[in-house]
Amino acid sequence: MENTYQLAEHFISINGEGQLAGALALFLRFAGCNLRCDWCDTAWACGKDAPHETVPLSRIVQIAEDAAAQGVKTVTLTGGEPLLQEHIADVMERLGRMGLRVEVETNGAVPLKPFLRCGACFTMDYKLPSSRMEQHMCTENFALLRESDTVKFVCGSRADVFRAKEIAAQYKPQCPLYLSPVFGRIDPAEIVEIMKDEHMGNFRLQLQLHKFIWDPNARGV
Ligand code: SF4
Repeated sequence: MENTYQLAEHFISINGEGQLAGALALFLRFAGCNLRCDWCDTAWACGKDAPHETVPLSRIVQIAEDAAAQGVKTVTLTGGEPLLQEHIADVMERLGRMGLRVEVETNGAVPLKPFLRCGACFTMDYKLPSSRMEQHMCTENFALLRESDTVKFVCGSRADVFRAKEIAAQYKPQCPLYLSPVFGRIDPAEIVEIMKDEHMGNFRLQLQLHKFIWDPNARGV
């Protein structure tokens, strides 16, 4: 029996964030999430009743082959929380063997250790106080991150930016650190002011590109 996965949607677009922002990628969005962030923009994909197709690994491989034939070099696994899918490591390894760069967008509430051998790069969120989910963060993940990974601090308030500074100083992750404003909740200019005032030269501000290019509520882009 082939392993199956709950796939909520798949599409080709540009990466909106992270080290490969602006580059084309195949997005595989998996259904289900173990968090309920206050400002979640994909809440429709989070619940147990999230619309999805149950697909075998061979179907995912076929979708990836079609994307690769169109010149796509990166696959982004997202959600929901993709690492909650049973046997997701098999997907990561298989897509990697096809020569694709595999990026995993993960919410910071799943231990990364079992997935480090899969050859993927992680963009790990750290959920700050405005999300109301900070208590679920697996802080032991910080010590495992590599230069090819990213920590994304999603900031919905000024207090979040100060907390990001505190967390980075405490855990010292050895990878790029991004501050990403929650669209419509905090003016990016305010974040820049705090970065200057607080000497946060080890962070980079990033904007969610797709929110500016398309309707902020659009799906599949
Ligand atoms: S972790 Fe991501 S998908 Fe899950 S509730 Fe938070 S923002 Fe939404």
